[in-house]
Amino acid sequence: MPSYEEWKNRSASINPRNQALIHGEFVDAVSGATFDTINPANGRLLTKVACCNSEDVDRAVRSSRQTFEEGGWKYRSPKDRKRSLLKFAKRLSENAEELALLETLDVGKPIADSLNVDIPLSVECISWFAEAIDKLYDEVAPTDRNSFATITREPMGVVAAVIPWNFPLLMACWKAGPALASGNSVILKPAEQSPLTAIRMGEIALEAGLPPGTLNVVPGLGEMAGQAIGLHPDVDCVGFTGSGEIGKRFLQYSGQSNMKRIWLECGGKTPQIVAADCPDLDKVAEAIAWGIWYNQGEVCNAGSRLLVDRSIKEELLDKVMAWVPKISPGDPLDPETKMGAIVSSEQLTRILNYIELGKKEGAKLLIGGKRVREETQGYYFPPTIFDEVRNDMRIAQEEIFGPVLCVITFESFEDAILLANQTPFGLAASVWTKDISKAHRTARALRAGTVYINSFDQATIAVPFGGYKQSGFGRDKSLHAVDKFCELKTTWLDLRS
Ligand code: NAP
Ligand code: MG
Repeated sequence: MPSYEEWKNRSASINPRNQALIHGEFVDAVSGATFDTINPANGRLLTKVACCNSEDVDRAVRSSRQTFEEGGWKYRSPKDRKRSLLKFAKRLSENAEELALLETLDVGKPIADSLNVDIPLSVECISWFAEAIDKLYDEVAPTDRNSFATITREPMGVVAAVIPWNFPLLMACWKAGPALASGNSVILKPAEQSPLTAIRMGEIALEAGLPPGTLNVVPGLGEMAGQAIGLHPDVDCVGFTGSGEIGKRFLQYSGQSNMKRIWLECGGKTPQIVAADCPDLDKVAEAIAWGIWYNQGEVCNAGSRLLVDRSIKEELLDKVMAWVPKISPGDPLDPETKMGAIVSSEQLTRILNYIELGKKEGAKLLIGGKRVREETQGYYFPPTIFDEVRNDMRIAQEEIFGPVLCVITFESFEDAILLANQTPFGLAASVWTKDISKAHRTARALRAGTVYINSFDQATIAVPFGGYKQSGFGRDKSLHAVDKFCELKTTWLDLRS
C-alpha cells in the first residue's frame, strides 16, 4: 500500500478521463455540456465531465445495437468471451491503484477500502462471470418420443446499467459482469457523483479487446441520461441500483416505452436482531459498529436498525460506543482512515435533516449527529447513534444512507421479528442468538433476501444479492444474475418429419 504522502502526490497529478465512451471513442456530449465532479474530501472540483443527454444516449444505443446485431461479441464462443473478460479483469487488477485513487477522490471512501475491497471485488466479479460462462449448460425438455425441445438462454441485446455512487465500480461490475459474459452489449450510466471509474473501466475493456460498442459509458444526470435510457425504445433491459423512488420511475419508463425488462436493487433498512441469549456481546458490538459505519453508512444493506432485548441493551450499547473513536472520520487518502467523507454536500444535508427529524420525533441522540472536520471544506459526518427509537418513526423507516444507527428495544423476541419485518424494505437482516432452532425459525420468518445468523455482511460473489418487497427484485451476483440478462427460448423439432 502506498503511503499517505504518495497518495497525496498522485492525486495532485491525476488527470482523469472525463468524456463519454461511445463505440470505442471518447467523445464530448453532443451539446458540449459538462457537469462538475467534486472531491467530497475537500469540496474541490476534480474535473468537468461530459453531460450526456438523450442525443448521446441515442448514439450509445445505436452503437450497442449495431455491435450486438453484427455479433462480434454475442457470437463469440463462450470460451472466447471468457478469455476476453479474464483479460479485462486482469487489466482492472493491474490498474488497481489508479482505480482505487479515482474512486476515493470521487466519492470520499477510505483509500484502504477502495484498494482492498472495492477494486479486488470488482476484479473478482468480472473473472467469476468470465469463468462461469463456458460452464453453463442449457436444457433439453422432457417431451414425448417424437419431439425434441431445447430450452436455451439468449442474450437480451442492449442492456443498460444505471448505478449509484456508493460502490461505483463494484456496482458497475455486478451488472456488466453477467450481462457481458452472456453476450449482451452494455451501456453504463454512472451516478453523477461518481463517473470517473466507470469511464476508466470502459477504456480498460477496450484495451482488453472487447469490441467497440460492447461497453459504452454515458456519464450524465439522472433526469437527462438516466431518463433517456429508461424511455429509449431500443434498450432491452435496465439493471438499476439506487433509491426506490427512481427504481419506481424506471418501471414507469418501461410501461411508457417498450416494456424493457427492469431489475431493481433499491436499498434497505436492515435490522440486526440481538436476543438476550446472543453468543458473544463483543463480537455483536463489532458487527453492529461496522455494519452501520462501514463506507460512511452509505451501504444499501447497512445494519441501520438495531433491535435489541431490553435486558442487554445498556451493555451492548456501551460496547458499540467503544468503537466510535476507532471509526472516526479522517482524510480518505490516509491509509489509516477507517471512515471517509460523505459523498456530496446534498447527501450531508440529507443526513443532517434526518438528525433534526429524529430529535423532533423524540429519539435520543447518544453520540455524533454534527458535521465534523469542517475546516477541510469536506463533507464529514461522524458515527451517530439514536437511542429510544420507535419503529414507526421516519428515521426507522426511511433510508438515511449515512452513519446513523437507530436503536429499538424489544421485550419479547416475537415482537422483534414483527418489528424487523415492519418496513417497506426487505434487503437483508441478521439475528444473533445461541439457540440454533430459534435462529432458523427467525431466518424463515424474516422477509429479506439475505439473512445473517450470528454474523453480518458475510459475502461472496457466489451467492445472490437482492431484496424482497420494495428493496427491489432480481438478484445481483451468482449464476442467478445471468438469467436477468437472458431471454429463454424454446425450440421444437418434430422428429417424424
Ligand atoms: P438515485 O437518485 O436513485 O440514483 C441512482 C441512479 O439513478 C443514478 O445513476 C442516478 O443518476 C439515476 N437517476 C436519478 N434520477 C433519475 C431519473 N429521474 N431517471 C433516470 N435515472 C435517474 O440515488 P442517489 O440520488 O444517488 O441517492 C439518493 C438515495 O438513494 C440515497 O440517499 C439512498 O437512500 C439511496 N441509494 C441507495 C443505494 C442502494 O445501493 N440501494 C445506492 C445509492 C443511493 P444521477 O446520479 O445523475 O442522479
Ligand atoms: Mg464526486
